[in-house]
Amino acid sequence: MIEIKDKIEQSSNIIIAGHINPDGDTVGAGLALLLGLENKYPNKRIDFVLQDSVPKNISFLKGTEKIKKIEDIVNPNYDLAIFVDSATVERVGKVERLMGDAFKINIDHHISNPKYGDINIVEDISSTSELMHSILKGLDIEITLEMGEAIYLGLVNDTGNFAHSNVTNKTFLVASELMRLGVNNNKIVNDFFKTKSLQRMKVLGKALSEMKFIQDKNLMYFNLSYEGLKNLDAIKDDTEGVVEELLNYSDSEVSLFLREDETGKIKGSMRSKHDIDVNKIAGIFGGGGHIKAAGFTTELSPDEILKRVVENL
Ligand code: AMP
Ligand code: MN
Ligand code: MN
Repeated sequence: MIEIKDKIEQSSNIIIAGHINPDGDTVGAGLALLLGLENKYPNKRIDFVLQDSVPKNISFLKGTEKIKKIEDIVNPNYDLAIFVDSATVERVGKVERLMGDAFKINIDHHISNPKYGDINIVEDISSTSELMHSILKGLDIEITLEMGEAIYLGLVNDTGNFAHSNVTNKTFLVASELMRLGVNNNKIVNDFFKTKSLQRMKVLGKALSEMKFIQDKNLMYFNLSYEGLKNLDAIKDDTEGVVEELLNYSDSEVSLFLREDETGKIKGSMRSKHDIDVNKIAGIFGGGGHIKAAGFTTELSPDEILKRVVENL
């Protein structure tokens, strides 16, 4: 911790980067860090930059309006880059190009993380946001209500609202501390989960009616073409949560959701209920994540992807 504190104190231009298709954990952890560093070091330049926009159901968090897009950065010149919730450097997408040869700090919780930073704080823990809570304390940064809300949303995002096996008593202790600070659990959960667009409800409906169950592998599968997405007038954020829903069938042990993007590439998401290691399977396609939740992007066809997944289950 001393090491990262020194590094931050020696730097004057700092970039914080989160992953593409940002979720509540990458936004929550990055935002808490941004707000905390801004409060403690008002004379430093600190930019939190994301390649893609913050999804609508996360943008209620105070401070998200400060998150920058690549086009906003005219003079990068960073001496320190802090990666949050990003299993590889490539996961931050085009934001990497702004970093030059800045010193890299890697703050993450994915088991597939190859520790690409000059300093790595990578722990097998519920979320990067839970990790960020202890890092901020270690940096002697006071956690404000706004930071607390961001961290709380990160916890909710990556634990499926405190339901997944990555929840420990420590996760609840952090949540409890945040509530004591004034975080309104009910408000955050409602703003995050109960604000779905009509398109998102329709994507889910399509998934639930067209999904296929591959009996001998206990695999629930759904593939959404770009045309299928457009026909529902939906965007990629509207597919969030589909892969978890596919796993809810009583006989599902593993779920696979494929989504074609506008370039024809396929984004794959996998979830596992018990022992199946989906991090390993995502690795076949150059992706990764956690044992029970992993993702990848590939140029292979949906049929070929399904074939390889089935072969490896
Ligand atoms: P997703 O299915 O996109 O929600 O991702 C599930 C988990 O795997 C999340 O923790 C992601 O951060 C991680 N993940 C997704 N895609 C990749 C990838 N290409 N490489 C490494 N980790 C990934
Ligand atoms: Mn994430
Ligand atoms: Mn995460």
